Amino acid sequence: DKDAVDPAKLDSYSKKHFPLCMRHMHETLRATHHLKHQCRLNYGLFLKGIGLLYEDAMRFWRDEFTKKIDSNNFDKNYAYNVKHQYGKVGRMLNYSPYSCIKIITSSVGPGEHHGCPFRHWNPALIKQKLLEYGISTENANEIKNLVSDGHYQVACGKYFEYLHGKPPTNGINHPNQYFEESMNLEK
Ligand code: SF4
Repeated sequence: DKDAVDPAKLDSYSKKHFPLCMRHMHETLRATHHLKHQCRLNYGLFLKGIGLLYEDAMRFWRDEFTKKIDSNNFDKNYAYNVKHQYGKVGRMLNYSPYSCIKIITSSVGPGEHHGCPFRHWNPALIKQKLLEYGISTENANEIKNLVSDGHYQVACGKYFEYLHGKPPTNGINHPNQYFEESMNLEK
């Protein structure tokens, strides 16, 4: 079994080891103290997949949401979701984190932050975000062109490559695979 992830490390992991989709949801959560349903599901299952334990997940979501709402509201409206993600209520299923294909083909409405940025954002916004994250203009342009041509996962592999100095072994097919390959480079 994997090691449990220390929730205190999520901010630094999101910068170094999360793919852009998950980094974006993490940063949006930190900035707004809220995420809509699909987003909580996408991000929550990813976190479970990287080894965030149930009790830590509950604390993580509660601490962030209760910066804006009170804890009764959290307990009434949001705690169930977290339990559900960990298979503790409802049909007690052990839900799996979503693959890139599932994320790329999902629909993302206004005010929602799940989805694959390479697929769901416009290329100019991708470029701006990459520059903000310290990727060079030349490399950001290369990624922007891949996105414009519809090569979303290749673009994601380039994002990995430019942050780590080497490409992922077999391309990117799953956000959790991205995370694991990135973590392995640190070992
Ligand atoms: Fe996330 Fe996959 Fe898109 Fe990369 S290609 S940003 S891992 S959904």
